[in-house]
Amino acid sequence: MRYREMKKAGFSVSELGLGCEHLQGKDEALIREVVSAALDGGINVMDVFMSEANVRTDIGKAIRGRRGQVRIQGHIGSAWLNGQYTRTRDIQHCEFFFEDLLSRLGTDYMDIGMIHFVDDMKDWEGIESGPVMEYAQRLKKEGRILSVGMSSHNPAVALRAVESGLIDVLMFSLNPAYDLLHEETLIDELFESKTYQTQTLKGVNPTRARLYARCEEMGVGITVMKTLGAGALLKGETSPFGKPLSVHQLVRYALDRPGVKSTMVGCISAAQVEEYLRYEDKDDGDLDYSAALGGTAAYSLTGRCMYCNHCLPCPSHIDIAQVNKYLDLCAFRQEAQESVRDHYLLLEHKGGECIGCGQCEKRCPFEVKVRSRMAEAKALFGE
Ligand code: SF4
Ligand code: SF4
Repeated sequence: MRYREMKKAGFSVSELGLGCEHLQGKDEALIREVVSAALDGGINVMDVFMSEANVRTDIGKAIRGRRGQVRIQGHIGSAWLNGQYTRTRDIQHCEFFFEDLLSRLGTDYMDIGMIHFVDDMKDWEGIESGPVMEYAQRLKKEGRILSVGMSSHNPAVALRAVESGLIDVLMFSLNPAYDLLHEETLIDELFESKTYQTQTLKGVNPTRARLYARCEEMGVGITVMKTLGAGALLKGETSPFGKPLSVHQLVRYALDRPGVKSTMVGCISAAQVEEYLRYEDKDDGDLDYSAALGGTAAYSLTGRCMYCNHCLPCPSHIDIAQVNKYLDLCAFRQEAQESVRDHYLLLEHKGGECIGCGQCEKRCPFEVKVRSRMAEAKALFGE
């Protein structure tokens, strides 16, 4: 298993994480089986947003004796009222159900205190200057949460929250289909096929791209939800790309975005966990998502680097995706250039080593003008 550092949070997480949503309603033995298979396989981060009592208690039993092995995203604002899940900003409910989560999981701290499901700007403004954020900051000061997180499906709201400096971790819905949509697309519309037919889709939404770049720059780790688009991207009939992508290709797509540290994929059996873990043994050919995305007439990604490295090998051994990623990070903010340059200069081979053979451009499914990009990198970073 490979691990990635979450700079602001101050710890590392496995690039494959476990989403526990689908464990609700399952029996204790199955929950233990899934959680054990994940931890045995090196997964060290899991998301627990569910507010239902039994699933919390059973996850607590499954991690007993292994608490130190796992980083938990526990949600603030996820309540169980009148026999059903409810999102809440009522501070008494927030406190009650967060304390309930700690006690049912059998722990006295949460690695990430995740302010739950903030998709509306007014909601964020109320949280930012109100009792929910005060509560989260107090928990952090007391050491009862190690970092403050926020979960969101809306890139404009998420960007505001990240730029406020109050958030250490962002849980965000990210996959190649959502990346194409307008930032004001509502959560329910993300799952409707007509959304993909009615919007004019011209490539990765700039607000989303900017969000990922800012997270990378500010050290805010992104943990990904909806990596598989609720399963819709796994089937040709339901994927807006008209072709199925595999679980492993979708995981790779998410992990290729700047700022992303872990994908929180839900599993409902040990066999599913084991299949998910096979990601670590796959080669670049198995994980290549570019053909599925690049050959779709309706969705123009032309000219935009997807960081897939399908263009390799390069006779100068340049990591073309990485050079492009650093260039894109600078495109969003001039003042980021100094810190990005430090990372760029650590690359073994730089854009300036490009001999202009053009082989990469023949292989790139997105028609990226790699030679000019390498020249741009040399001009910007000096090498
Ligand atoms: S240049 Fe093309 S093939 Fe290479 S990483 Fe970017 S999108 Fe992929
Ligand atoms: S054009 Fe430059 S970056 Fe592309 S393969 Fe040739 S040397 Fe490498």
